[in-house]
Amino acid sequence: MTDPSQLHHVVVVGAGFAGLQAVHDLAGAPVRITIIDQRNHHLFQPLLYQVATASLATSEIAWPIRHLLRNRREVTTLLATVTGVEADAKRVVLEDGSHIPYDTLVLATGARHAYFGHDEWEPFAPGLKTLEDATTIRRRILTAFERAERETNPERQAALLTFVIIGAGPTGVELAGTIAELARETLKRDFRHIDTARTRVVLVEAGPRVLAAFTEDLSAYARKSLEKLGVEVALGQPVSACGPEGVVYGDTRLNAGTIIWAAGVQASPAAEWLGAEADRAGRIKVEPDLTVAGHPDIFAVGDTATMLAPDGKPVPGIAPAAKQAGAHVARVIRARLKGDTAPQPFRYHHQGNLATIGKRLAIIDFGRIKLRGALAWWIWGLAHIYFLIGVRNRLSVALSWLWAYVRDQRSSRLITQGSAGELRPNDAKKGAEAGQP
Ligand SMILES: Cc1cc2nc3c(=O)[nH]c(=O)nc-3n(C[C@H](O)[C@H](O)[C@H](O)COP(=O)(O)OP(=O)(O)OC[C@H]3O[C@@H](n4cnc5c(N)ncnc54)[C@H](O)[C@@H]3O)c2cc1C
Repeated sequence: MTDPSQLHHVVVVGAGFAGLQAVHDLAGAPVRITIIDQRNHHLFQPLLYQVATASLATSEIAWPIRHLLRNRREVTTLLATVTGVEADAKRVVLEDGSHIPYDTLVLATGARHAYFGHDEWEPFAPGLKTLEDATTIRRRILTAFERAERETNPERQAALLTFVIIGAGPTGVELAGTIAELARETLKRDFRHIDTARTRVVLVEAGPRVLAAFTEDLSAYARKSLEKLGVEVALGQPVSACGPEGVVYGDTRLNAGTIIWAAGVQASPAAEWLGAEADRAGRIKVEPDLTVAGHPDIFAVGDTATMLAPDGKPVPGIAPAAKQAGAHVARVIRARLKGDTAPQPFRYHHQGNLATIGKRLAIIDFGRIKLRGALAWWIWGLAHIYFLIGVRNRLSVALSWLWAYVRDQRSSRLITQGSAGELRPNDAKKGAEAGQP
């Protein structure tokens, strides 16, 4: 029997969709694997907006990586932040200066939101990428209503009841629709001094339409549906300032208690670690087999990499693309270990685009099949429940959604971290909630 320590060592950095898929598909291969992540959980980012809008609890969309891999004896899980790669020495560097050697390295470190050179906006307009981001946004949304209830100055009260979402991609649209429903349905009987139905939700987009990845008719339908929910949609209006008082877009200066950033993506620094060629968003331009040019033993997959799909467009930064890339890397590693010829170059298969608008409507574009409305929402819901991990989570999420659907109630409305005196939703001076769960 082979000494396990002599087996080919695959190090996977990042336990997101791409990294986990690679580990999953290497089951039974003659390798030992170390998976390293800076967080102890795998996160189902497509439902993060539901944590941010008080519909789901954090534990319903995230799972401890160690637990997910508990039955894989050949896999070691490490909670650590990778800070560099020494490609010549074939080892990754961790934040404490220690090293992990590899035979094959898979970089699957994802991306974060980007502020187009205006990082100073972040404290006023948090983005949505991690569980901390989601709970920060949830806290700001719920806190804004609490402060408005106590506010006696009508102008300040109106500002507190104004929510601006910047960026009308799927996340911006989902946030805007859900906040509008939260204000008009869920909270409508809970306050005595404010009418939550007067809440303004403004969705600001620099481009000419919402959900630009969809066809024009589906995009127009989404816009109309948002407006029916009471969302004001401001298109073709780039944001030029964000601050404690509010936001400036186009010629409009709007006082707003809560601003949420849902525009722009910046890849993890993996390209810098290797001095690899990258696109403007910092994504490594990978070879057709997903290796990094000049490093046949290093793969880059998911949101931290970029390549063109068969139609000549870049492979989109979505979960199915990350999973397909992770699966491809596992195939290449297996073939190499067997001494087989390399598999065909990576070929991305687009399965479709889905987006929800509030809790009753969605749009779906499966190419030849396009759906909109309530039926699309049910398909969206079933697809997302299917992709969650574990029966308990599936049941729990389904029940939360059913409850919200039938009773307009959202189960996760607790404001944690901070007492009444600290209820300052848009205040960056104190560092506000940065990093608070
Ligand atoms: C709010 C939101 C909504 C989305 N909605 C959808 C949707 O509806 N449908 C869809 O298909 N896609 C959606 N996406 C996109 C999708 O989530 C990403 O495309 C997918 O997560 C990419 O997978 P990945 O494995 O490349 O990266 P990720 O899933 O981001 O995983 C990267 C992992 O690497 C870890 N990591 C990063 N840096 C380091 C480091 N230095 N050291 C150690 N570990 C590190 C991170 O902690 C993380 O666990 C959404 C994304 C967001 C943010």
